[in-house]
Order: sequence, then structure tokens, then C-alpha cells
Amino acid sequence: MGKMDRNAGYQEFEAATLYCPYCRQTVPVRKRLLLVLPEGDKYDYCCAKCGRPIGAKLDKRDNLRNYRNTGIR
Ligand SMILES: [Zn+2]
Repeated sequence: MGKMDRNAGYQEFEAATLYCPYCRQTVPVRKRLLLVLPEGDKYDYCCAKCGRPIGAKLDKRDNLRNYRNTGIR
């Protein structure tokens, strides 16, 4: 009974990259909580270099409703 699971703590980290129009290159982005909406949390993706928001994403709270993402610009 000495068996230990050596699961390296899996963090929910998205190593996403986006194209930043300000830096004019693909850059790593940082996820920031922007708004808390009834249907979910809206996150901003900020450029890790210049810090400007270059993307957004809506994390749905539940799947009770079928919200369609009709393109967040
Ligand atoms: Zn940038």
C-alpha cells in the first residue's frame, strides 16, 4: 500500500498565442477576467508584450442554455 500517484499538478493554463496588430506579430497572450455575465465569464486576451487586449472569449458557466458564439470580434 505504498503506491503514490505522481501526477504533476495539472494547471489550467492555456498557452495560447494570438496575432497582435499592435506588435504586428504572433505573441503569447494572457487571460484576464473581464466581465461576469449571467451566461458565463468573459475573458480578455492581452498581448504579453504590449499588454493590449487583442482577443476575447466567453467561458460558459453551464451548458443548460445553448448560447451560440456568433463571432466575438
Ligand atoms: Zn502586442
